Amino acid sequence: SRTFHSLKPPLNLPPPHIPISAATYALSLRRHSPFPDSLTALIDSATGNHLSFSDFIQRAQTLATNLTSILKLSKGDTALILSPNLINIPILCFALLSIGVVISPANPASTRSELTRLVRISKPIIAFATSAYADEIPEVKLGTVVIDSEEFESLVMMTRPGVRLGRVEVSQSDVAAILYSSGTTGNVKGVMLTHRNLIALVGVYDAVRVKREEPAVFLYTMPFFHVYGFTFSLRALVLSDTVVIMERFTLRRMLSAVERFRVTHLAVVPPLVVAMTKDGVTEGYDLRSLQGVACGAAPLGKDTVAAFKFKFPGVVIIQGYGLTESTAGIVRTMTAEETSRPGTTGRLVPGVEAKIVNPNTGEAMSPSEQGELWIRGPSIMKGYAGDPEATSATLVDGWLRTGDLCYFDDDGFMYVVDRLKELIKYKGYQVAPAELEQLLLSHPEINDAAVIPYPDEEAGEVPMAFVVRQPQSSLGEAEIIDFVAKQVAPYKKIRRVAFIESIPKNAAGKILRKDLNKIALQRSFSK
Ligand code: AMP
Repeated sequence: SRTFHSLKPPLNLPPPHIPISAATYALSLRRHSPFPDSLTALIDSATGNHLSFSDFIQRAQTLATNLTSILKLSKGDTALILSPNLINIPILCFALLSIGVVISPANPASTRSELTRLVRISKPIIAFATSAYADEIPEVKLGTVVIDSEEFESLVMMTRPGVRLGRVEVSQSDVAAILYSSGTTGNVKGVMLTHRNLIALVGVYDAVRVKREEPAVFLYTMPFFHVYGFTFSLRALVLSDTVVIMERFTLRRMLSAVERFRVTHLAVVPPLVVAMTKDGVTEGYDLRSLQGVACGAAPLGKDTVAAFKFKFPGVVIIQGYGLTESTAGIVRTMTAEETSRPGTTGRLVPGVEAKIVNPNTGEAMSPSEQGELWIRGPSIMKGYAGDPEATSATLVDGWLRTGDLCYFDDDGFMYVVDRLKELIKYKGYQVAPAELEQLLLSHPEINDAAVIPYPDEEAGEVPMAFVVRQPQSSLGEAEIIDFVAKQVAPYKKIRRVAFIESIPKNAAGKILRKDLNKIALQRSFSK
């Protein structure tokens, strides 16, 4: 058959029609845990403040009660969140999930105009933000609650006699979160993930859990507004991992947190694995507690895996592949041995089906041929918020078109060969070329423009612009970089510019991005 199934037994999920929120489901799986609720759930790496699982659950329930009774939030409302990673964030997310309020976390580095666009997509009625970002939030109906304030602290801590959380019936098909992704083409869109999607994800964690003598201490470096970080606290709750949270990330802070909190596992993006393999970087830090590194969100090179294994022979790298649209990991390695198969990102997780499709004809191919990866399963998104057109272009009969060029080997291992879609990944963050192209075209001296990913050792890829100037213009590289930088979050900055006579396009006017990739590489070699 041309459809490829996970080799693992199917997931044992609650029947889809039974009303249950992802929060309640995650809590119910905690009974599988060999560790008590007195275990530390969360540690703030900057202050060392920590919280046990029972405190976490207690606070999330108190907050849920107060959000309902004081702020009058109810099922189906949407809450925008703008914050770095803080201990209160998993508590807030868990509370919102349990009362059926849709969580929409955005990158706090976003500019006001970027936020205005996101708010138009997700339509929040309330926002939660730290004081540093609260002023950036466009007007929302119920205003903005400041997370690092006494008001918020009392919402988390204050139990009032006689006030109890009424029963909220959350259906699994209800939207749980709206995350932002540009998908395979165009501008940013709102990815609607349902409670069912999150339930499937925690079901996978439960199914592939590793039996441990001691609880794992997981330091997560990814921001919670990206799907990889967003799903992490649910995962930790189910698996009873202690999670170390970093509000402000630097490599040095991460290394000293590993030493200080005896971190056993890191969750990272590929540029961090690259950084850790460099000479001298980890010198002076006691990293002997490290057992594993989970890496995903962008390609991890074989040479990097080899260099890391050489430097840290006792540390296992686990690779994962997924998309915002698939609620993160749908392909992963399970063991050190699997990760050392050169170039693979692993095998399908339980419950997921895949096929390899000819990107030109839409026909299913043999899985061992290279083609576009399509995936199906309970963690695939409901669709893009308010955008039926983009949804039907991306979801075909329940299959998600990933825009990634992949193949499988005979043992069911998947290899990502290239990206067919427009996306640029800067340190694992999404940058949508279309957005930068529109900004460039708004410049009076720019006639045409195209933005492509340019390979970069430190970041994986950086956005590079090809620009066609007005005939008389003497616009320079620095001016162009600056013009865009003023209007976007820092990670989206254009970092390279090349001037060109005309942008190569096909007959339909579509930019021939692969041709530009070639031109960019040729020019850099001839320099
Ligand atoms: P995002 O929605 O930001 O998670 O981006 C998803 C995209 O990131 C995928 O479609 C891939 O292009 C890329 N990606 C994620 N994980 C991997 C991986 N392990 N190897 C290669 N590319 C990856």
